[in-house]
Amino acid sequence: MPIYEYICKDCNHKFEAVRSFSQADAPIKCDKCGGEHTNRTVSKCWAIGNGGNMHLETTVSGGGCAGCSGGNCAHCGH
Ligand SMILES: [Zn+2]
Repeated sequence: MPIYEYICKDCNHKFEAVRSFSQADAPIKCDKCGGEHTNRTVSKCWAIGNGGNMHLETTVSGGGCAGCSGGNCAHCGH
C-alpha cells in the first residue's frame, strides 16, 4: 500500500501513514497533537519508486526524489 504524507495545520507536524487509495483523502488525526486539521501532501517518492504514474513530477531528476537527494530514502529506496 502507498505511503501518504500528511501535515497538521495545528502544529505543522508532518507524519506518514500507510493507507489504501480509497482512504488517502479520508480525515486522519495528527499523530502528535491529535488534531484533525490535517492535509495530505503528495508523496512523490512512492510514485516513482514503484514505477507508478500518479503524481509524477518532471522536476525530479536523477532517479531520486526531493526528499532523499540520492541517499537512502524510506519512500523510494534511492
Ligand atoms: Zn498536530
